Amino acid sequence: TVRTRFAPSPTGYLHVGGARTALFSWAYARHFGGTFILRIEDTDLDRSTPAAVQAIIDGMQWLGMHHDEGPFYQMQRTDRYREVIGQMLAAGTAYHCYSSPAEVEVMREQQRAAGEKPRYDGTWRPAPGKVLPPIPEGRKPVVRFKNPLDGEVSWDDVVKGTITIANRELDDLVIARPDGTPTYNFCVVVDDWDMRITHVIRGDDHVNNTPRQINILQALGAPLPLYGHLPMILGTDGEKLSKRHGAVSVMDYPAQGYLPEAMLNYLARLGWGHGDDELFSMEQFCAWFDLGHLSKSPAQFNPEKLAWVNNHYIKQADNNRLAALARPLMEKEGAQFDGAPDLAAVIGLMKERANTVNELAAAAMLFYRQPAPDATLLAQHLTDAIKPALADYAERCQSVEWKKDALTPMLKEVLAAHQLKMPQMAMPLRLIITGQLQTPSIDAVLELFGRDTVLARLAKYLG
Ligand code: GLU
Repeated sequence: TVRTRFAPSPTGYLHVGGARTALFSWAYARHFGGTFILRIEDTDLDRSTPAAVQAIIDGMQWLGMHHDEGPFYQMQRTDRYREVIGQMLAAGTAYHCYSSPAEVEVMREQQRAAGEKPRYDGTWRPAPGKVLPPIPEGRKPVVRFKNPLDGEVSWDDVVKGTITIANRELDDLVIARPDGTPTYNFCVVVDDWDMRITHVIRGDDHVNNTPRQINILQALGAPLPLYGHLPMILGTDGEKLSKRHGAVSVMDYPAQGYLPEAMLNYLARLGWGHGDDELFSMEQFCAWFDLGHLSKSPAQFNPEKLAWVNNHYIKQADNNRLAALARPLMEKEGAQFDGAPDLAAVIGLMKERANTVNELAAAAMLFYRQPAPDATLLAQHLTDAIKPALADYAERCQSVEWKKDALTPMLKEVLAAHQLKMPQMAMPLRLIITGQLQTPSIDAVLELFGRDTVLARLAKYLG
């Protein structure tokens, strides 16, 4: 059975790149009815914060990527790491190293000077028949992993293909510091082992860690997961995605009026494809998702494309749901909902053209504030020639059946009777009723306002 994990370090916000990694791990588990695990890699005490943990959890929740196990916190697992370190020391797959940081630095200097790759020289590495130096007074050791000296480590990366590293390229990694605390790569190994992870899908910034992790897993007699390293996400200019390109924190997107299903659909296409399919549900995605169609080249994050996807999902979304999202934004702008048209109905009329809920909320405001038409515009559109037609129109408004299908022919009758063209009536009507010249179809707008409001607003401009 498939077990995947998302293992963020809580040092900031949930980055869109992290969310994409999480999405692929989550979808892969869903595809096989497997288990998706959330693991918080919080051992970097200087950089990890509770706020960052919360941001990750909020982002995952907003996207609806629910974990089946966890969240596990590495800081709560230190006893387990120490236990495994003890076992490795006992088994001889790790050793105490008393070389001081200064000594290690000298070693490295000399190696660099000789044109060699700097690595631990093995002073404290035990070997059959080798006599180790006396332990320096009062010095606390680090624990190093006894990396194999010969041979190579190789894995079939599901994204990058076979990767092979010679063991002589790898150092005897420090797995515990002098105070006993375990180091990053070691915690990852113990976790992936204990959590029985079958597929490690992560960013390719970790590809250099993989041979080290595989060697430790092998020393522990642990089964190896499959690894897939995703290329990073770039901005449209080909540079690494950063704040310069717009919002990179997932939780900025709900704040800007994006729907989670749009974000998910967009992220799913970053580095994975299913033919020309652009728009699909998460159910469909999980059914399709496989590791064979992951792209080897970096994906580009295109905010315009994301906006287009968001517009698609806004058009599909339930109007009541959109109204609930838009309402607080509109309240902040002073919207008056008393006696005003039903917000869900207004949203239904206006959502076609909105790329975000925030745009939709701003557009819908015209129904919820008193119109204040610009005097110059009014003078321009409500000429003396138009006024009699407007009076006629108001008269007919008293008795017409108040629905779009009746309002449209009625307006046309007025136009015919006064020999006017549509804009000559529609523009002053828009100004008077809404205060602005751009609105959806005027009859649809009038229908939503209702007869009383329309008549009251018209009355102010009829002599
Ligand atoms: N904690 C690492 C990160 O946030 C991920 C480690 C992993 O997936 O193995 O980049």
